[in-house]
Amino acid sequence: MNPDRYRVKAGQNVSLQDWATDDDGGYTKEEGKALLAEYETELAQWQERLYAESKQALLVVLQARDAGGKDGTVKQVFGSFNPNGVQISNFKVPSEEEQGHDFLWRIHAKAPRRGTIGVFNRSHYEDVLVTRVHDLIDTKTAKQRLDQIRHFEAMLTENGTQIIKFYLHISPEEQQERLQARLDDETKHWKFNEGDLAERVKWPEYTKAYEDALTTSTKDAPWYVIPADRKWFRDLLISQVLLAKLKEMKPQYPATTFDPKQVKIPNIEVK
Ligand code: ATP
Ligand code: MG
Repeated sequence: MNPDRYRVKAGQNVSLQDWATDDDGGYTKEEGKALLAEYETELAQWQERLYAESKQALLVVLQARDAGGKDGTVKQVFGSFNPNGVQISNFKVPSEEEQGHDFLWRIHAKAPRRGTIGVFNRSHYEDVLVTRVHDLIDTKTAKQRLDQIRHFEAMLTENGTQIIKFYLHISPEEQQERLQARLDDETKHWKFNEGDLAERVKWPEYTKAYEDALTTSTKDAPWYVIPADRKWFRDLLISQVLLAKLKEMKPQYPATTFDPKQVKIPNIEVK
């Protein structure tokens, strides 16, 4: 499977219908799950190196429509990492304090520190998505923000933070099923939000806003369109992209500053 197929090329005009939502990459579910288990082991090893090195950071942006699978991705893909080195940030409707600042203020504060992986469950992209669909900002402001996002992400990269952005791509039918499941299963009632229905009927408006947001794909901060109707394939593809990224970052264990053969651990007697 070549993940490049799912990467939005820099400068590319995006039409979401060019990507299938139910792609399985040619794997069966069993094959996919077995491969995912292998990737998870490797990912955990690379994460430890990143943490030990503490020179670079990785920022992962997750965006999706409601019930698109952001939470499931966090649980499945990032659940295999050492929690010490991962920071998950959930961005909700901005508070009064946050609204009193520029839209990147709260985002920058959550950028991952060196040695760690930051996961944005929703992100600065909400400020060119939900805000656009609801006409809270005009086209000129949206365009300005897209430019500001490009500059902001380039600044992070220049300062040692690598960035990968995932759009979890589901079909309207899949969303309907998942929302219905939240109604049918009482252990999922807490996930049901009536407001999601109002967003659902704005499907085409969101498609347009996402297609514009995805044009911020660059070589250093690429967007991937992840077919997400099948949860196991979504997790597999995301893991594969992350693994390739971590290998490319080549984190190294720091050089030892002592000769381990010369160090003697003192014997102690505890009474
Ligand atoms: P789930 O998919 O499980 O429902 P969620 O991410 O939708 O999780 P919620 O608390 O249901 O979490 O929703 C968060 C809400 O905050 C979303 O409707 C999102 O559009 C909104 N939001 C996030 N950032 C902004 C922003 N900058 N401006 C306006 N609304 C925002
Ligand atoms: Mg929600």
